[in-house]
Order: sequence, then structure tokens, then C-alpha cells
Amino acid sequence: LEERLRKSDTLNVVGELAAGIAHEIRNPMTALKGFIQLLQNSIKEDYSMYFNVITSELQRIESIITEFLVLAKPQAVQYKQNDVRKIMQDTIDLLGAQAMMHNVQIIAKYSEQLPFIYCEPNQLKQVFINMLKNAIEVMPKGGTITVAIKPLDEQHIQISITDQGCGIPEDKIKKLGEPFYTTKERGTGLGLMVSYKIIEEHQGKIEVKSQVGVGTTFYITLPTEREKEEYDELGI
Ligand code: ADP
Ligand code: MG
Repeated sequence: LEERLRKSDTLNVVGELAAGIAHEIRNPMTALKGFIQLLQNSIKEDYSMYFNVITSELQRIESIITEFLVLAKPQAVQYKQNDVRKIMQDTIDLLGAQAMMHNVQIIAKYSEQLPFIYCEPNQLKQVFINMLKNAIEVMPKGGTITVAIKPLDEQHIQISITDQGCGIPEDKIKKLGEPFYTTKERGTGLGLMVSYKIIEEHQGKIEVKSQVGVGTTFYITLPTEREKEEYDELGI
């Protein structure tokens, strides 16, 4: 319990900081984008290479801020009974074009008898997007992602996302979910951190099985009902 408390304290502080910083950066970013556009339109010579770099770097800052904002204090978070199958299928449809561009096929296997679960659909979608994107990104030559959703026991369901990517060495698995841990040249190292936080808030857990050179499976276990925890009452 102590360990969990400590972790959730840290996450709260990180969340508040993230919200503050993100909002502070958003405004100057908007100004920057506007003026760069004006500049681009009024400069005659071809500086398109420079503008491309500026635009892509601005986009990068924006994606970091967007991921940070998910950490921020809940904006209109609405826990409700939801069909995870639908949330997952919406996400797969959303990423369809990106998957196809990378020669990646996404196969989904859903159990017939799936209970609805008490969750925040936009946040779960965020987790699925992060994990599916990671899976696509580790298969530069294409491959198959297998998604499965099944009941685990009376009170839990399990979602698994399996790729045929590079795999993760044993000693790196514990680094997953740490802020800024990335092995990608253009990575943010925030996707999994946000995902772990969201699943933790859903009283679920994430487990990883991986074999270097073979692939990786992320297992997400979610409760069907939300339990009131001891420290909910403490107001932590
Ligand atoms: P990013 O994708 O920006 O690097 P993430 O938090 O999404 O940040 O992921 C952190 C790191 O975890 C990745 O850089 C990668 O090293 C590792 N990782 C995540 N998903 C996978 C996967 N499916 N296969 C192999 N490595 C992964
Ligand atoms: Mg990622």
C-alpha cells in the first residue's frame, strides 16, 4: 500500500506540473505557428527545407504537449459502462490507414461473451492508440498485430496486443512507463507512461511478455466494476 501511495503521489504532482506547463506552452506555440506561416508566405526565395524542419519540430513539441495533457487533471472524464470491443474497434479503424502504409495487418479476436466494463472510453482509446502505434513502429518491414479481448474471470477482462517486432530485452522491461524512456530517434517516451497511469486509474494492470527478435505482447487486465479503494476515502 505504501508503495502504491508513493507512486500515486508522484503521479499527482507530475499531473499538475504537466497541466501547468502544457497550458503555458500552448499559447506561445500558437503565436509561433501563425507567424511562421506569415513568414513562409512572404519570403520569396525557396527556404522550404528550413520551413519543413521548423514545422516538423513544432509538431513534435505539440505531440509532447498533447501527451502531457492526458496526464493533466481530468478534463470531463466520464466513467460509464462501456463496450471495450467498440472502443478497440474504433481505435483500429482510426489507425487503419497508418497500419496499411506500414504493411501492417491488424487482426482482432473478440470473445462473444464480453461484459461491459466501467471505464472512461476516451482514455482507454488513448491507451490503445499508444500501444497499437508502438506495435506498428516496431515492425518497419510490416507484419501482423493480433488484438484479443476475452473475459479473464467473473470480475476481469483481458486485452492483449501482440506484435512481431524487435522485442524488448528483459532488463529494459522495467523501464517501460518511465517518463522519457524511449529507444526511438523521434520518440517522446511518454506514450506508455500515460497508458500505465490511465490503466492504474482504472484499477487495472499492464503486463508485458517479450522475446527479442520474435515480438511483444502487452496484456491489459481491467475490472468490470470499479471498486472503492481504501485511499479513495482518504481523499488521496
Ligand atoms: P515512444 O514510442 O515515444 O518511444 P513509448 O512510451 O510509447 O514512447 O514507448 C517507450 C519505449 O518502449 C519505446 O521507445 C520502445 O523502446 C519500447 N516499446 C514500447 N512498445 C514496444 C513494442 N511493442 N515492442 C518493442 N518495444 C516497445
Ligand atoms: Mg509510443
